Amino acid sequence: MKETLLLNQITYTPEETYQCGVDFASKVNNGDFIALFGDLGAGKTHFIKGIASVLTPAAHVQSPTYSIVKTYQGPNVTLCHFDMYRITSEDDLISCGFFDYENCIIATEWSENIEYALPSSYYRVNIQKDDTASNTRMLTISLIQQEA
Ligand code: ADP
Ligand code: MG
Repeated sequence: MKETLLLNQITYTPEETYQCGVDFASKVNNGDFIALFGDLGAGKTHFIKGIASVLTPAAHVQSPTYSIVKTYQGPNVTLCHFDMYRITSEDDLISCGFFDYENCIIATEWSENIEYALPSSYYRVNIQKDDTASNTRMLTISLIQQEA
């Protein structure tokens, strides 16, 4: 497994985390997989909103916690936004249709719950809260590639 660090940044406001998503959107291509990790309120949805503002500007983005997945159509790509918070088994994952999604960009919140189902290559976005400063987040983006 090869891990290439692409970004390691501290954000101090939700807007900065959103902007990291905006900047990251230019790197993303159809078929890419973006796995987000981080606790409740870390800023995963803010980051995805930033991505979506570039790729699917007309979409209204919110955490699809109850529906599990929302699909946003852009002019050039489709963005599939999963929230895996309630996915606790592989049966759940099969039931929500996860393995049927293709020809799109996939972004998953709560990737902790589906680590076994992540593809061989993906972007890993980790957003970590700071215990001592309520609006501070450590944001890292790496590209994970399975070695051939
Ligand atoms: P998640 O999807 O990880 O549960 P959200 O993006 O829905 O998180 O919400 C993040 C919450 O944290 C929002 O209430 C936001 O205002 C707040 N927040 C405070 N500081 C930051 C920051 N630096 N980055 C992102 N969100 C922040
Ligand atoms: Mg969320």
